[in-house]
Amino acid sequence: MGNFFINGVEWQFIGEIIGRTVVMFLMILLVLRLSGKRGVRQLSLFEVAIILGLGSAAGDPMFQEDIPIIYAVIVFSVTLVVYKSLTWLASKSLRVHRVLEGQETIVVREGMFDLKHKKDTDFSTMEFFTELRNQSIEHLGQVKLAVLETDGSMSVLFYSDEEVKFGLPLFPDHYTKIDISTEHGPFACMNCGYVICAYTITADGYCPRCQYQHWAKALNTERIS
Ligand SMILES: [Zn+2]
Repeated sequence: MGNFFINGVEWQFIGEIIGRTVVMFLMILLVLRLSGKRGVRQLSLFEVAIILGLGSAAGDPMFQEDIPIIYAVIVFSVTLVVYKSLTWLASKSLRVHRVLEGQETIVVREGMFDLKHKKDTDFSTMEFFTELRNQSIEHLGQVKLAVLETDGSMSVLFYSDEEVKFGLPLFPDHYTKIDISTEHGPFACMNCGYVICAYTITADGYCPRCQYQHWAKALNTERIS
């Protein structure tokens, strides 16, 4: 096993790898600082693509003795120029911005899931639930507007405590299917969040908004701050 790790090692090159790694690491830091990004909490796909390219260009020269570091310097410089140019273009043109970064999507509007998002985003409903729960939202009746930003984060406008209405529960304890013929309403559609009172529900139990058939007991609790 030991042979597997040290067989054929050129000890002299180990020193070179250390030197190359230090140089490349400092260069990565420099380029990221020059890019003007402040942090990497959320990256757009455009930025992920650039980081993947930089990562490969930075990693290879660290341990491959036949790759001069100048090649990586060229890749870094060109990437930085392209990144800066595209960012500049995107700031001038909304169309370029949308091609590069995608478009923000309305997920929740007036306490209900916006039905359009289901057709034109690949974000699954379960991911919406996760994002909304992360913001301590107990049910959709607390939410006036929720927007999925292009970097994958969720921005939420809340109803004030007086405005909170009945809505679909988002946490597992309450997001459970109930029998609408025996329980008391209001009920919330488990698919789109539409809220309805017991006596107005159609006989077959279909949601009038999205035709889904499963209902949960709606909540109208205020936000806990
Ligand atoms: Zn529905």
